Amino acid sequence: MHQPLLRVDNLVKHFPITKGFFAREVARVRAVDGVSFSVDAGETLAIVGESGCGKSTTGRLVLRLIEPTDGSIELEGEPVHKLDARRLRALRRKMQIIFQDPFGSLNPRMTVHDLIGEPIHLHGIARGAELDARVGELLRLVGLAPYHAERYPHEFSGGQRQRIGIARALSTSPKLLVCDEPVSALDVSIQAQVVNLLMDLQRRLGLAYVFIAHDLAVVKHISHQVAVMYLGRLVERAPTRTLFAMPRHPYTQALLDAVPRPDPNWRGHTRMLEGDVPSPIAPPSGCAFHPRCVFARDRCRQEVPHLRPLADGSAVACHFAEELEPYRVGVSEKQATATETRLGLLRAARERGKEPVPA
Ligand code: SF4
Repeated sequence: MHQPLLRVDNLVKHFPITKGFFAREVARVRAVDGVSFSVDAGETLAIVGESGCGKSTTGRLVLRLIEPTDGSIELEGEPVHKLDARRLRALRRKMQIIFQDPFGSLNPRMTVHDLIGEPIHLHGIARGAELDARVGELLRLVGLAPYHAERYPHEFSGGQRQRIGIARALSTSPKLLVCDEPVSALDVSIQAQVVNLLMDLQRRLGLAYVFIAHDLAVVKHISHQVAVMYLGRLVERAPTRTLFAMPRHPYTQALLDAVPRPDPNWRGHTRMLEGDVPSPIAPPSGCAFHPRCVFARDRCRQEVPHLRPLADGSAVACHFAEELEPYRVGVSEKQATATETRLGLLRAARERGKEPVPA
């Protein structure tokens, strides 16, 4: 049987809300509620969704930076969710994180040498001259120079700091990197450089990424698979090409429609996503998306839709995914011109007071 590098099964994280002297539990925040996916070596899985959907919590659960309430996480067959502190520390060599904020994630009192060398030292990978050489090698790998090692984080730009963060994450030769919105705090001009660096490193080192993002243009560029989260659950999971060509879940469709298009010839229609994400303390009954879904029917209010596979290789959590009209993002220029011609004919015929002959 094929064994992926990372397998996550039915992952759950509920945060209790307590009250009073005896800390009685009065409610639960259902941050992550039954999420499953797998990632192969050398592959990128992007997790997308609006703020508060649980994507960053999922990333932290994968690394066990926070403890799951339920479910399992396996890295190369090893049960991350069950390991004791000593074995977990050893396994952390294989999985690292890149944080969103390159300003807050690096200790300002440490030199770049110490920031990158610390994990190498802690995991007993190298010492002395060998450690110095490894730090220089990592700096070169991320596009910086070995002489940068003696400087402090405040002496670098945002993009350079993120490169230092990447070098630190790579210092233990991991197989999996969780990238938590790694470019969203950077200037647009720098974002592309960092994304290209991550893609280049993946090709050279065979890394797998769990790439958490809300910028769908970046996700389309970097990922092989996409998982869409809504209120702690996966609502769609598909190969990137399939998802961007023909999203099946109404929420994914609305997310893609919200992306601004730099194409003046685009003639598609837009489904706006209205209202806010409901509270994860008291999610709506049935399909949690039903208060915002233009296709919602009675069944949607009563029955939770589970993620199920479709014939095109995607998996979707919607009762009516097959029935909904196939939804293509935008239309081709040829189609747009044909539509415009027909609309022009229609307008001209109306002006003359008669309907046109159907094409
Ligand atoms: Fe919309 Fe119903 Fe599908 Fe949920 S199950 S996405 S409410 S059509």
